[in-house]
Amino acid sequence: MSADDCIFCKIAAGQIPATRIYEDEAVLVFLDIGPISDGHTLVIPKRHFERLHDCPAELLGQISSRLGKMAGAVSAAMNCDGYNLLCNNGRAAGQIVEHLHFHIIPRNVGDGLLNRWPSYTYKQEKMEAIAGKIRQNL
Ligand code: AMP
Ligand code: ZN
Repeated sequence: MSADDCIFCKIAAGQIPATRIYEDEAVLVFLDIGPISDGHTLVIPKRHFERLHDCPAELLGQISSRLGKMAGAVSAAMNCDGYNLLCNNGRAAGQIVEHLHFHIIPRNVGDGLLNRWPSYTYKQEKMEAIAGKIRQNL
């Protein structure tokens, strides 16, 4: 998806409406139009990058430095018990809008959201092999 037909670029440019919460030179923060809990908020860079690792480190630093404040404001406003910070990257991971974004999702005890976490155990050799592969790609 190019920036030309990207819905979040259009929101950042003010070409389509959104319920805006905060913006500065680097980021825009607005309410998700299809929330999974009240106060579900999106934090996006104003510039178009598809995935986390496409985004230059300097801009990621700018985004990250805003995330805590935004999450704190959402959390205080919604008086929630907790929140998830979620960044879906790629279709397989549930990314629908191909413009990097971070979900802040207010959570309450027993809300039943995002409950599936199908963990399993590695064999030790496999763990070492995978860690080695990742290190080689740094
Ligand atoms: P993802 O699955 O991580 O790509 O999530 C994309 C999110 O963007 C979804 O939660 C949508 O509800 C949200 N979304 C899509 N279009 C809009 C829009 N025009 N304004 C606000 N949120 C949107
Ligand atoms: Zn975009």
